[in-house]
Parts: sequence; C-alpha cells; structure tokens
Amino acid sequence: MKKTALILAVIIACSLILTACGESVIPNKKIEGSDLYVKKVESIPDGFIFGMDASSVIAEEESGVKYYNFDGEEQDVFKTLAQSGVNHIRVRVWNDPYDADGNGYGGGNNDIEKAVEIGKRAAKYGMKLIVDFHYSDFWADPAKQMVPKAWAKMDIEQKTEAVYEFTKDCLKKLKAAGADVGMVQVGNETNGSLCGEKTWFNIQYLMQAGAKATREICPKALVAVHFANPEKSGAYADYAWRLDYYKVDYDVFASSYYPYWHGTLDNLSTVLSEIAEKYNKKVMVMETSYAYTSDDTDFYGNTISDGGTYEKNYPYTVQGQANSVRNIIDTIATKTKNGIGVVYWEGTWITVGGNSWEENSAIWEKHGSGWASYFASDYDPNDAGKYYGGCAVDNQAFFDRYGKPLQSLRVFNLVKYGNEVEIKADAIEDENLIVDLNGKIVLPEKVNAVMNDDSKRAVPVKWEITDEMLSEMYSGGVKKYDIKGSADGLEAHCYVSMVEYNFMDNYSFETGEMGTWELNDIGGADELYIEKKATDSLTGQYHMHFWSAKSNSVEFTLEQNLTDLPGGKYKFSISIMGGDGGEQDIYSYVKIDGEEVQTCHTEINGYNSWNTPVIRDIVIDEGQTLTVGIYVKCAGEGNGAWGKIDDALLNSMS
Ligand code: CA
Repeated sequence: MKKTALILAVIIACSLILTACGESVIPNKKIEGSDLYVKKVESIPDGFIFGMDASSVIAEEESGVKYYNFDGEEQDVFKTLAQSGVNHIRVRVWNDPYDADGNGYGGGNNDIEKAVEIGKRAAKYGMKLIVDFHYSDFWADPAKQMVPKAWAKMDIEQKTEAVYEFTKDCLKKLKAAGADVGMVQVGNETNGSLCGEKTWFNIQYLMQAGAKATREICPKALVAVHFANPEKSGAYADYAWRLDYYKVDYDVFASSYYPYWHGTLDNLSTVLSEIAEKYNKKVMVMETSYAYTSDDTDFYGNTISDGGTYEKNYPYTVQGQANSVRNIIDTIATKTKNGIGVVYWEGTWITVGGNSWEENSAIWEKHGSGWASYFASDYDPNDAGKYYGGCAVDNQAFFDRYGKPLQSLRVFNLVKYGNEVEIKADAIEDENLIVDLNGKIVLPEKVNAVMNDDSKRAVPVKWEITDEMLSEMYSGGVKKYDIKGSADGLEAHCYVSMVEYNFMDNYSFETGEMGTWELNDIGGADELYIEKKATDSLTGQYHMHFWSAKSNSVEFTLEQNLTDLPGGKYKFSISIMGGDGGEQDIYSYVKIDGEEVQTCHTEINGYNSWNTPVIRDIVIDEGQTLTVGIYVKCAGEGNGAWGKIDDALLNSMS
C-alpha cells in the first residue's frame, strides 16, 4: 500500500471511530496534583467498568444546576466524569413516569427520551452506556416493583411480549442517537418480584424477553440481572439457582452494595464469587455510594446523616467517600472471581435552588429533580404519595452543592496508579455510649483519629461538657445526646444514649431460643414453647406461647437467674395475655438466693389484653443471685387455656 493511501485509510478509520464513539477524554495516565490519598489497586483487569449513574442530570440542568470542571470552569458534566476516569454511564429507564396531565413523577423523570439524551452525551466523550430498565413507571427496588400503567391489565403472556417490544424499541432509539450501549439490565433490584409479577415462574419470562430483545438489537452488549441485599444469607445463591433452572440468558449477576446496610466486603466477594464460579457468570457492583458530608443542603432530609444506627465504616468526608469506593473496587477487581466493574449511584444528583424548602419544592415539582413529586401520588400512594420531595442523597454526590467536582471523583483514575500522599488525620471516629439512667456517664479519654489512608490512631480528646449538661442528662429520661469535643484539631462526637437498661437476657425472646430462660413444665401442657408470630407478640416477632386442651395441665414456671448484678434497688415486670383460663393462679415472683421475697398477682382476660405485674424495690447486694419469673396455673375451660408471655424487664431503680 502506498503511504498516502495508508494515511487516507487511517484518517477514514479514525473518523469512523469518532462518529461512532465520539472523542474519548478518559485519561490513559495518572491525573497528577491531587491531595486525595488513594492506595493503588493491583492488577485491575482490562476494560474494568468504572461506572457512574447519572440519571438525574437532565432534570438537574433543567432545574438550573450548573456543573464545573476541576479548573472551576462550567463544563458538560459528562466530560468532567470522563476526564476523571469514568468509562460507563448508567441510566434508568421508566416506561411512563407521568400522570394523565403530563406532569412528571420526579426522580429525574427518566423516560427513554432522557436516556437517549444522556447516552448521546456519554458517547460524545467516549463512555459506554448501561441501560437500567425498571419495567415500571417509577422506582423499582426490593420494596416495590409496580407494573407500568399501560400494562396493568395484561396477563403474563401479553406482558412478556410488551417487555420484548418495549426493550427493542428503546434500544433502537438509543442506537439511532449514537449511544454506545455496553450493558442492558433487565430489571432493577428484582429481589423476588418484577413488573408486578411475584413468582419466579413469571419473572423469568420477563427477563428472557428483555434479554432476547437486547441480543437482537445490541448483540455486543452484556445482559445483566440486578439484585440487592447480598448480606441476606443464601438469597443470592437462590436467585442464581432459579435463573439457571429457568435457563435465563444473561451474562452479568450484579449487586447493589451500600456499605451502611449490605454487610461486609468479604461477604460480598464470597457470595458473588460463588455465583461466578458455579454458573460461569461475570459479577459486579451495580450501585454503591458513600456520604462525603453529613450536611443536608436542599432542605429535604438525607438517608445518611450523623448519629444514624447503620454502619459507618468511614468518616463522612471526601477522603472517606474515596476510601469506600476504592475498597469496593479493590474487592471486585482483585478478590472476586470474574469481577468486571463498580458503578456509583447518582454522583451527579445535587441540590437545586438553595434558599428554602418552598423555593426548592417548586423546582422539584416543575422539573422532576426531587426523588418524587406530588404527581406520583396516584401511581405510588404509599411511598411517593406520603414522602415526595427533594434529594435524599445530595450529601453522597461527587459534586458539591454548587456543582464543583470533589477530589474523590478522581478515585476512578487514581486507583489504577495509586496516589499515596502524606499520611494525616482526616476525621475523628464517632464514639457511642449506652448509659443506664441510674448509671454514671464516663466519656472516653481517647478517641480514634481516622487517617487519610484509612488507618486509625488513638488521640486524646477534650469534651465540651459541663456539670449542668450532665445533671440534665441524668434527669432527662430516655434520650440520645450528641456531645461535641475536639481531638487533634478535629471535631469529635460522642453519642450518649441514656437508657433504662434492661438486665434480662433475651428479654423479648427475639433470639427464638431459650438462652438462659428456664422453663419448668409442671402440668404437662400440650403446647409450651417460644413462638414466632408478630401479631401475638407484645413487641418484636417472638413470645412464649402456651395452650393445653386437658384440664389442669397448664402449670409452669418461666424464670431467669441473674448473678453479677451491681448491688442496688431494682424493679421487675413481665407481660402476659391469654384466655379460657378458668380458675387461675398467675403471679410474677422474685427470689433472692433461692428464697421467694416478693410476688405480684395477675390474670389472663382476653386476646391482646396484656397485663403487666410490676414488682418494685427489690434490694440486692453484690454477689447475691436474683431469680425473676412468672408462675402460671390455669384449670382451663372451653378449648383449653392459652396465652402468651413477652417482654420481661429488670431495671435499676437507684
Ligand atoms: Ca437532601
């Protein structure tokens, strides 16, 4: 070939690539100059997916949000994502997220037109698209998988055809617009239901239909199934088994992984690796996120904030957010079999408006930039209808409230090279104390500084607490307090929960087992055991159940022995309900070193009529053994005496 012809061929080839995929701005070398600490992830496989769900971008822009690059200049947010190392954009598709008058349901109003626009812009900067079909008109997740309005009256055969046609139609539109579809999800977090169907027999037809459409229109795209709750023992193995049993055609078994709720990374890696191994599938994290701040900036409360009861494995800082993402990438890339990628959920969903709830609310309703608008109430009355409003994850984005990118966004580039800057303290780990109302508040003298490399160092702390505050806490009843302090120049928090401490073990039978409870069945009842039935429990799921058809066979004691109690004054209570008791002798009792010192009589008198005998002023010395329990004796009548016992409380009185 002549040199000129070769050059011409190269030019033609390049221009073809440019037309198809746009101009990639994804850096192929390390981004320099970041002060973010990032430990290198060794041996990331080629083509590893660094994904960003950016579904709400269009609604955000229509709401007036502007996005900037790292130089502070306004720039297409998709360009900034690509420049930071993101190579896949994920977008959700709802069938018809509008009411009869054309008002959007919110959450980005993500119909196929929005996806087309996003797919086009992603391709412009060299990023592929992950299309996330919910097969619903609004949010689909483990709690709800509502059928689209237009498909509501269809039987499963018609619905299967509808999923096939809808998927085909959408993918054709995306392709025609120049989107580079790399993966298609047939359903979103489909934990046992999809598109209003609740049996796997029907669900699999719908997944098959989506997969078939994808193979036809985008033969190079991967087909993904997507589930949540990897921490639920056996759940993923069960889904994978069913998919295999029904021969569902898919390539990727994808999981949501929110560190607050979804168990350990080791567990995630184990459950996904097992599926990859057993069924020869690719696996990935399809959604994750982490808070970079505890502040809410849009006047609509966030799911994650200070003092929550969920796992806080990293500080809510830009560095903490990056460390969370880095460790998930490390887990999927190096510790999980066939791990192909990690997608961050909605890193571009930030605060709109800014000055008040009223101002923001008007914007959310008009442009759909809140999680749900009032217009979604008819379709989703129980969730959107009650809690519609703004963004509950604005503190988990990769852009600050003004649209400026956070350094943590660069984690997608820096994990490949490492960026091991100087080690320094990033935040102070929260302390949590549970104190009996009659106990003593002793705040820790040292706390853990969490370093930017995620290591910890104990440092002295100074708490801002006065005698007035302490006496208020002792007298304020059951309540949670946030005590502030400072350590290593950083803010520290000690969350102190003042509680009425219960000294009983397994007080509400919620372990489902006897533990240290002792049951003495004197009369030989037909049924006498711990039962799981929330509707018959005073609290929780479990209680002690008794029933016997034979007269005079209900006679038992249920008790617990407590040693090691601090000396002092106590009260004991226990609750019982039941019926058909006939002649009864029922009382709670207290023994000290085996000798009965107090009793309190009660009775059973009907379903859900709980009686709670209370024994007060139980004085014991250190070293003595306290026995607390209930004696139940019923002659029985009619179908035989029955009852339920629950919630034994032993609280300090001094
Ligand atoms: Ca918010």
